Amino acid sequence: MATKTFKGGAHPPERKHRTEALPIEYVGTVKQVVVPVNQHFGAPIQPLVKVGDQVKRGQKIADADGRMTVPVHAPIAGIVKKIEPRLQSNNLEGSAIVIEADGSGGVDFMPPLDGFSCGKDEALARIREAGIIGMGGAGFPAHVKLAPPPNKPITVVIANAAECEPYLTIDERVMAETPGDLVEGMAITMRILGVGRGVIGLEDNKAHLMDALEAAVKDYGRGAAIELQLLKTKYPQGGEKMLITAITGKEVPSGGLPMDVGCVVQNVGTFKAIAEAFREGKPLIDRGFTVSGGACKSPKNLVVPVGTLVSDLIPDTIQIDEDALRRVIYGGPMMGPSLPNWAVPVQKNTSGVLFLNASESKVYAEGPCLRCGRCMNACSCRLSPALLNVAIKADDFDQAEAIGLLDCIECGTCSFVCPSHIQLVQRFRVGKQLLRAKKQKEAARAGK
Ligand code: SF4
Ligand code: SF4
Repeated sequence: MATKTFKGGAHPPERKHRTEALPIEYVGTVKQVVVPVNQHFGAPIQPLVKVGDQVKRGQKIADADGRMTVPVHAPIAGIVKKIEPRLQSNNLEGSAIVIEADGSGGVDFMPPLDGFSCGKDEALARIREAGIIGMGGAGFPAHVKLAPPPNKPITVVIANAAECEPYLTIDERVMAETPGDLVEGMAITMRILGVGRGVIGLEDNKAHLMDALEAAVKDYGRGAAIELQLLKTKYPQGGEKMLITAITGKEVPSGGLPMDVGCVVQNVGTFKAIAEAFREGKPLIDRGFTVSGGACKSPKNLVVPVGTLVSDLIPDTIQIDEDALRRVIYGGPMMGPSLPNWAVPVQKNTSGVLFLNASESKVYAEGPCLRCGRCMNACSCRLSPALLNVAIKADDFDQAEAIGLLDCIECGTCSFVCPSHIQLVQRFRVGKQLLRAKKQKEAARAGK
């Protein structure tokens, strides 16, 4: 099979060897969870429970009306102890429901639903009621992605199985251990969208999974036309736009979405969650993620109840070398935020927790721009990072916007390749926030 890819990108050290062959460990029992109320991209939701309530595992504990909302469910059975602001994995404080386990073992799942015979609206309602969001990134509600407007017909459903971030191997293990869940979730999604083509796109460092996935398509695909596509192992191959370009040859337009080119992309964990929501009536209350890094003495792939504090997993489940530890990252090292400590919950979109040592988290002094063009050649969004940097440093946000600041996917490739160690992506993140704040101010002024 020919291996496809996109233009640009880089090759950071993969560092997956410590966990890629390790079976997933399931941590079913934790003493407490801290469940952020708003883990999705969209309109805020509100708690449905109060302090002192007893809740069952799977019971809905927060929700609101509105298309761009998804509910949150209790990941364990227990008593609601607090509802208060807590540090979350985006490094910001937000309302969280603290549940202490009471050992009652109560479970409150939905009844199973046959995703291959139910109505489309019923299927979309099931996905929303299960609280499913995109588990690989910003947490976009899955049911919204699966209901595009009539003028945006979808022709292909893509499973993002690239897992291009260094260290992360949880998607690889899910595909190795439960390939049928990925295929079943894809087939249900294709049925909802009325799409005749599905593609599982995986980097060629995972080519050994091809046989198992092909067998799963036969066994669990219910006849859906799902094919496999090998992709070159290159960062950021798992970016939605890069994946679409590599697989279909189409380019998502500036400011556009995958549906603009007839595509829906979900990651491996999201398809698995969809399969479980139908087959078992299970909401999204458990999360698989990779634990690794040079200061981690027990690298592994774990599944825990959403809301589990990483600090509560130490030292029984995770052992770290505190003397060697320099940084804790939630997610992958290229895009994940660095957190001040590890008393932060695992969330629906947490793909990894990395304990990095000094050699993995070196910070270099910024040098001058050498105009070498490496950042421009590596940028898969075809931006000019060096020019964006100049514009932002000069507070010229109009210019930064004009040359594509808002098209930056914050992949960090430009920073990785820059020989002068210029903090490009860090500056672009701040620049985007300042640009959006400026636009809001201008809109408010114009509205007066
Ligand atoms: S962080 Fe932005 S500018 Fe830099 S390579 Fe990625 S998309 Fe391009
Ligand atoms: S890679 Fe760094 S030094 Fe080279 S042009 Fe880009 S910003 Fe300048």
